[in-house]
Amino acid sequence: MLVDTHAHVQMPEFDADRAEVLGRSRSAGVQWMVCPGVDLASSTRAEELARQEPDVAAAIGVHPEDCDKAPADYLTKLRSLYALNATTTVAIGEIGLDYKEGTPDRALQFRFFEEQLQLAADLALPVIVHSRFAVTACLNAVAHFRGMRGVMHCFGGTTAELERAVALGLHVSFTGNITYPGAHATRDALKACPVERLLLETDSPYMPPVPMRGTRNEPSFVAYVYSAAATLLDSDVTDVACRIHETARGLFNHHERGNHAGEENL
Ligand SMILES: [Zn+2]
Repeated sequence: MLVDTHAHVQMPEFDADRAEVLGRSRSAGVQWMVCPGVDLASSTRAEELARQEPDVAAAIGVHPEDCDKAPADYLTKLRSLYALNATTTVAIGEIGLDYKEGTPDRALQFRFFEEQLQLAADLALPVIVHSRFAVTACLNAVAHFRGMRGVMHCFGGTTAELERAVALGLHVSFTGNITYPGAHATRDALKACPVERLLLETDSPYMPPVPMRGTRNEPSFVAYVYSAAATLLDSDVTDVACRIHETARGLFNHHERGNHAGEENL
C-alpha cells in the first residue's frame, strides 16, 4: 500500500511506455501518485493523465527553473486549468526557489513563488515546494502565509531546516536521495522528521534510488525509498507505508477514485 507523492509521469520521458510504467507501479503496490506540473503545458498534461488514470492525481504550477518562459497571464491560465479540473487537482506545484547557478533571476523566481503561494491560499490547496539550495529562502516565503499547508519535496536541507519546516506546519518528503552513499545529512534529517509529517516520493524520472541509479526513475522504484526509510526509522516497511499513506491522504485530501486490480475498501 504505497503512495508516490511526486512523480512526473506526464513528462515526455514516459511517452513511449507510460502504460507499462503505470502497470509496473500498480504491480509494485503503488496505490496512487501525485503528478506535479512544472509549467502550463506539463500541468495540463498532468490533468489529462489524472482524468484518464484513477491512480494519478494532478498538481499544477510553474517551477522556478521555468518561470522565465511562462506567459504574463500564467496565473489566469492556472486558475482556468484548476476550474476545469477541480476534482483531480490536489495541490499547487511544483513551485519554489532554485538557487543553483544558471537558474532564472532570483527576484523573478521569488515573484512567481509568492504569486503561486497566494493562488494556493485562494484555492485552499496545499503547495509542493522545490527548494534546491534555497530551503531557508523558501521557508521564509512560506512563513508569510499563515496556515499554509504543503510539502517540502525532495528535501535536501539540514535537520535545523527540517525542524523549521515542521514548525511552520509543513510536511517533508524524501526521495531516492536517502539511498545515496554521501547523503548523511539527508538521512539525519529524515530521522528527525516527526512521522506524521513524513512523506516519500520518487521524483520520477529524476533521482533514481540505489540500486537503480543511472536509469530513468519510475514510480515502482518508490519501494526502494520506502525500504530505505523503514531501515532508517528502525520500523517495519508495512507500518511506514500505512502511516505515509494516511499522511498523504490527509495533506492532499485525496480519496482514491475507482478501483483497479479488484482492490476495494481502501
Ligand atoms: Zn519534481
